[in-house]
Amino acid sequence: MNQHKTKELKAVNVISNELLTDDVHYISVDKPFDFKAGQVIAVAMQPTDEPRLYSIASGISKKHLSILFDVKPEGELTPPLSVVKPGDTIYISEPFGKFLCLDSPATWIATGTGIAPFISLVESKQANNVNLLHGARTLDKFFFQDYLEEQLGNNYQRFCTTEASEKTTEGRLTSYLKNSENLPTNNKYYLCGSSQMVIDVREILIAKGVAFDNIIAEIYF
Ligand SMILES: Cc1cc2nc3c(=O)[nH]c(=O)nc-3n(C[C@H](O)[C@H](O)[C@H](O)COP(=O)(O)OP(=O)(O)OC[C@H]3O[C@@H](n4cnc5c(N)ncnc54)[C@H](O)[C@@H]3O)c2cc1C
Repeated sequence: MNQHKTKELKAVNVISNELLTDDVHYISVDKPFDFKAGQVIAVAMQPTDEPRLYSIASGISKKHLSILFDVKPEGELTPPLSVVKPGDTIYISEPFGKFLCLDSPATWIATGTGIAPFISLVESKQANNVNLLHGARTLDKFFFQDYLEEQLGNNYQRFCTTEASEKTTEGRLTSYLKNSENLPTNNKYYLCGSSQMVIDVREILIAKGVAFDNIIAEIYF
């Protein structure tokens, strides 16, 4: 996929590569620049490769910069990226992007690794007056859930489609939204995840009376 050919890439040192579940990694690298919570970087194994984009998944004041990604077995970047070790070099662009989620009150909605920018925002202490809804297929895919719960309390809600637990609501996040009687229509809604999730959620929100302009999406195509 031709995602980001024009950005100049800079060599950075890998600090750690943490396997969070079977196919999801949290990789930290040296931080060569400042960024705004919610921004993305382009990432490549070699400076001549066509990079892929990743939301920054760490706070602005952290020593290192981290990304969260799932491995696409047939993908070009994520299989080699999943086996990098501390001390290896990868290539990243300067941060860019406008998914800064500055307005509140807001509802943040994420599926799977789409939680990444919201982790950055929470770690950057930019999560006032927000409600975070996170959907995942299995219980092990609520990345950083303990931290998010600690920081957001009841304003962090988990929706799990295939497993049950006392901390999660069973079923799809979209079903919850559809069945909600009083979704705040003046909130900003920030959506992050797959294109299908964004399409489905946007349709539901608009049907519930949320203005199109109040729905801002970062799509992981
Ligand atoms: C703004 C933005 C932010 C993003 N942030 C994140 C993030 O934080 N975390 C994250 O995990 N992802 C994120 N993504 C997605 C990410 O950029 C990559 O697309 C993803 O990680 C896959 O990269 P890859 O090189 O491994 O796969 P690719 O090589 O790009 O392949 C993508 C998919 O296409 C399939 N495929 C490849 N070649 C073929 C072919 N010839 N025929 C059929 N199928 C094929 C692969 O099986 C794979 O499933 C983001 C995307 C965008 C646009």
